[in-house]
Amino acid sequence: MTAIEALVRELGDDIVSVDDVSERYHSDWSGTSPTAPLALVRPRTIEQVATTLAICDRHGQTVVTQGGLTGLAGGAVPRPGDVALSLERMTGVEEIDAAAATMTVWAGTTLEVAQQAALGAGFELTYDLGARGTATVGGNVATNAGGNRVIRYGMTREHVLGLEAVLADGTVVSSLNKLLKNNAGYDLKQLFIGTEGTLGVVTRVVFRLRPAPAARTTALLACADYAAVLENLASFRRVPHLTAFEVMWPNYYEVIAERRGGITPPIDIGAGRAALVELSGDDADGDLVLIESMIGRAIEAGTVSDAFLARSVADTEAIWAMREAGPTDGIVGLLHFDVGLSTGDIDRFVGTVEQRLGARWPDVVVYAFGHIADGNVHCNPTVGTDDVEVAEQIEAIVYDTVAEFAGSVSAEHGIGTVKKPYLDRSRSTAEISLMRRVKDTLDPNGILNPGKVV
Ligand SMILES: Cc1cc2nc3c(=O)[nH]c(=O)nc-3n(C[C@H](O)[C@H](O)[C@H](O)COP(=O)(O)OP(=O)(O)OC[C@H]3O[C@@H](n4cnc5c(N)ncnc54)[C@H](O)[C@@H]3O)c2cc1C
Repeated sequence: MTAIEALVRELGDDIVSVDDVSERYHSDWSGTSPTAPLALVRPRTIEQVATTLAICDRHGQTVVTQGGLTGLAGGAVPRPGDVALSLERMTGVEEIDAAAATMTVWAGTTLEVAQQAALGAGFELTYDLGARGTATVGGNVATNAGGNRVIRYGMTREHVLGLEAVLADGTVVSSLNKLLKNNAGYDLKQLFIGTEGTLGVVTRVVFRLRPAPAARTTALLACADYAAVLENLASFRRVPHLTAFEVMWPNYYEVIAERRGGITPPIDIGAGRAALVELSGDDADGDLVLIESMIGRAIEAGTVSDAFLARSVADTEAIWAMREAGPTDGIVGLLHFDVGLSTGDIDRFVGTVEQRLGARWPDVVVYAFGHIADGNVHCNPTVGTDDVEVAEQIEAIVYDTVAEFAGSVSAEHGIGTVKKPYLDRSRSTAEISLMRRVKDTLDPNGILNPGKVV
């Protein structure tokens, strides 16, 4: 009996689909070539996840775990012959514990649903990203997603107190810790955070919650250059409830206005940089006064030339829409790089990439924006062609530059298949070999997301 026959026999055809698996499960947002999985398994219970993996492990059947399929590294894309295991039916908030300030959520729940549930109970789940409406909390944990408020609260990892995962052989490890302090042995949850489904399937997550702030105060600053951006970052970092400090470079700032109808940049930045600043607190009026006086001082010091202060929810949404738009529509040959760098180096890195690519392809345009306070820039060049060989040459130039700057080839999107060839630009041989040893120990038959990460 084959693995697929065993899956159908044990779980039934409500859970296991073999024919005509919808194209939705063939790919993610990375642009990696779509591939139909051998079968699609959509369990409703932990036991069904465990049965799936136990059968696949016995048969040496490879499995790719899928959440909301918004990943940008190709981690959830099936390889030929993989079974796709979707968590989309394992949804919902199991519990909000107000005294502990925690929530326990099923892995297939979208981030937005979890965020809304937390808000409904007077709390905030404090990580956030543009794909919130589709990305699942299981996918966020598996990719250790970053996003918009890392400067204040850290990445997804910092929000996870406990989790439950199913190992390759079907063993369920329930480690649903709610304690802030728990040093009883190894912190096993870390094995499954940021490991992109290569070491286990996450089924439930316990998140730490914080009181929901009453107000967000957002402003957009025009800074003449990156030195001025850094001056402003240094001032705003002194405000304890600073929750975002995002920067847009001029090419990006202009293109989103051109390509996204309805987005009109409220201020002109010329050849400078736009900085988006957000404070989250309980005193909306106080924060408006604070941010106004900081902008006033920055204008006097010459580090801000113009500014727009959001006075309504619509203003705030408009500013964030610019930052989250992403210059993707209809730009031929646009490549996406999500790289980690020391904050002070980011502008020099963008300039170096522009110059190195320009030496070879004079028409290069680089669209850059990012969470610069977290040392993360999305540096997206195009040289005007979709040619795969050209793309590979560009990738090599960009990732070699990342290595020279001692940066990371993936700040937040993960390695998947897209960045696997470049992992050694950021990780030593000893580190990669240790990753392999961990993988071999937890998944000796290599059934979980093979070909991804290491
Ligand atoms: C518009 C847009 C904006 C984005 N913004 C950000 C951002 O600001 N910051 C950021 O970090 N990312 C961002 N992303 C990338 C993406 O949203 C995140 O990587 C997200 O965490 C993926 O969640 P998902 O449920 O879609 O996972 P998927 O794409 O389905 O899977 C991603 C990886 O996780 C694994 N996986 C999924 N679920 C599980 C599970 N339950 N157990 C084990 N492994 C699992 C998959 O095998 C795969 O390797 C953005 C993407 C888009 C499209």
